[in-house]
Amino acid sequence: MILAGGLLAAACSSSDSDTSTNADSITTLAESAASSSESVEDQSEVESALVEESPGVIEDDGQDLIFDDGTTQSSIGDPLFDGLGNGGYDVLHYDLSIDTTSNSEDGAIDGVAVLTLVAKDDLPRFNLDIEGLVVDDVTVDGEPARFDHVGGELTIRPSEVLSVGSEAVVTVEYHGLPETLHDVGDVFELGWQAKHWGSYVVSEPIGAANWFPSNNHPADKATFQIAVTVDEGLTAAGPGTLIEQIEGEGTGTFVYSMPYQMATYLAAVVTGAFVIDESEGPNGVTIRNALYAASADDMRPILDRTTAPMLELFSGIFGPYPFDNYGIVAVPEPLGFALENQTLSVFGVDTVTFDSIFTEQILAHEMAHQWFGDAVSVSEWDDIWLNEGFATWADAYWLEQNGQEFFSVLDQYNRSSELGPLKDLDAADLFDENVYVRGGLTLEALRRTVGDDAFFNLLQTWVQTYSGGTASTADFLAMVENHFGEDSQQLMKAWIFDEVSPELPSR
Ligand SMILES: [Zn+2]
Repeated sequence: MILAGGLLAAACSSSDSDTSTNADSITTLAESAASSSESVEDQSEVESALVEESPGVIEDDGQDLIFDDGTTQSSIGDPLFDGLGNGGYDVLHYDLSIDTTSNSEDGAIDGVAVLTLVAKDDLPRFNLDIEGLVVDDVTVDGEPARFDHVGGELTIRPSEVLSVGSEAVVTVEYHGLPETLHDVGDVFELGWQAKHWGSYVVSEPIGAANWFPSNNHPADKATFQIAVTVDEGLTAAGPGTLIEQIEGEGTGTFVYSMPYQMATYLAAVVTGAFVIDESEGPNGVTIRNALYAASADDMRPILDRTTAPMLELFSGIFGPYPFDNYGIVAVPEPLGFALENQTLSVFGVDTVTFDSIFTEQILAHEMAHQWFGDAVSVSEWDDIWLNEGFATWADAYWLEQNGQEFFSVLDQYNRSSELGPLKDLDAADLFDENVYVRGGLTLEALRRTVGDDAFFNLLQTWVQTYSGGTASTADFLAMVENHFGEDSQQLMKAWIFDEVSPELPSR
């Protein structure tokens, strides 16, 4: 994620207006998370009423199940977002079918989600996260299952207890107009967004629940297949590779396969009058951009000039690009930010039609997230600097390689603003400047201490070790100690945890 105008603009002016608006928005997210956990209490009452008539259910007292790993039936236990995600199972695969044409309500969708999951405990019931849509039917292994849907929590009671270690196929049919999850400052409109021209998806951190049922937390990544049906003549672009295109009567269905692990907040599709540009990039990576037809000509020059060289540069220092293809989708309206959706980062028309250093920075930032955030995801949201700090370091490095002294701009800004530590955040701080600016400088301090080659080697080992899964700040510190010893680890601890950061080493 990066705000439009970019850190270059933020760091070059001392205005903090963006930050306060941003903070307001995240406070609302926290409130939204809190209200969804309140709804779980309501749900307990509904559940109590169902217990007696539920044959084969064990230990069913209507309360949230509590598991040994600290998770519960309705929360994966994220310190910043209580109530987000669910415990008791791991999702292995999502097979989503989203029809934008069959519902007569403008902008509404009909959805079928088929989840393959494995139980981590004996489960008389379990939860999925879905909010604002109507759930019509649920089956587990083909058998009808009873369900309650209260707030953002869908509680499913299979006809037989799922036993620990067993796999189950859960099918959820649903429909409705996806409800935008708003923030106070209207900076982020989260989830599936229906527009007069089509639709797009921006979910970080909680928005996925507005368009498909999931275990909505990056700690439970899975593979995906997503089929999207649109009116004839329109295009749907999704994550990964287009594996099938089906023509119906007045409709077209586009089926995308994401065979790599993906966090729910990075799953996204876009529908509308888009053209898909495909070309062969470096090292066998396909470059694929979904450009709104009317403005595609404005965007092609900067994309043609930067995408392949950025892939080349970043693959050289981070290791091989972690997926099969990469590109951006540019929607035909200003968004105010860009987001690193897996293999298909989403930009507003405001961030990519101008061939400028700001645009380059944001393009580099979102591409770098494919390694840091997408391939290697955060274990919990309090580790967000492992996404934003790494992506900020990478966009500054791209600028440095192209003649801009951006690390010194970040350094001056950090010193004048005394940006706070990178851990023990409030939910309101998730996208604050410290996570970006001080996060990026944390890595630059290590680079200047150990040298380029050793630093790049660490980055490559980081991706190799954790790609497809998640990593934490503790994992980072352990790897730094392993590579460079105690002194370097202490340096990183000071940058991450101290109230005021150390001085950036000169070079
Ligand atoms: Zn970012």
